[in-house]
Amino acid sequence: MIPIKSKEELDILRRAGKILGIIIKELFEFTKAGVSTEEIDRLAESLFKKNKVEPAFKGYKGFPASICTSTNAEIVHGIPGSRELKEGDIIGLDVGVIYNGYFSDAAVTKGIGKISPQAQKLLEVTKSSLSEGIKQAKAGNHLYDISSAIQGMVEKNGFSIVREFVGHGIGAKLHEEPEIPNFGNSGQGPVLASGMVLAIEPMVNVGTWKSRILDNNWTAVTKDGLLSAHFEHTVAITENGPEILTNI
Ligand code: MG
Repeated sequence: MIPIKSKEELDILRRAGKILGIIIKELFEFTKAGVSTEEIDRLAESLFKKNKVEPAFKGYKGFPASICTSTNAEIVHGIPGSRELKEGDIIGLDVGVIYNGYFSDAAVTKGIGKISPQAQKLLEVTKSSLSEGIKQAKAGNHLYDISSAIQGMVEKNGFSIVREFVGHGIGAKLHEEPEIPNFGNSGQGPVLASGMVLAIEPMVNVGTWKSRILDNNWTAVTKDGLLSAHFEHTVAITENGPEILTNI
């Protein structure tokens, strides 16, 4: 069953999302050439403290850092380290917080300095596929209306959608029902209702959709070594349509 949140729970999730949006915005601005992913992680830790939230990922199934930083061919679950960003890189920042017992989850991908036209297009298409998916997150629609809208936007632009990692319900836990694949047929899957809260997160590759996991047992990378991008919002389905809780 997909959990339906009460009005009180939705208000907490709104607050959690708002704080997360503020944190990601600061991290995004800090992320530039010469900065290491470890430094971004340290800034995230201090912003969590300042905003009185807990990191949702640290220690989750043993994840060793506060946020995920995934560069270039890394799809998701990149582990912050000493590597310094350089002009032309792209980097995904995936951040989750716990506020008052409730979770919020969002991700953005940023280009460092001047990036290739292909990388630029990848960022734009991934971001707009998320917007197209969110538009379908409304009461009465089927879950895979979201999936199909994302896949359509991505494949129309000649990119591929990652299969092995999916979006998820979110609220009292980081991962709740349902799983939200970024591919599928519209008109299928459970019917959506007001009060559901979903973390929608397309991961889009330039080349093959296939991935492999690095020796650190966490980081997923593209099998062909080509670029990958990731955008995510936590979205509530309300009587007035989709409400993005993690505006950045
Ligand atoms: Mg997520």
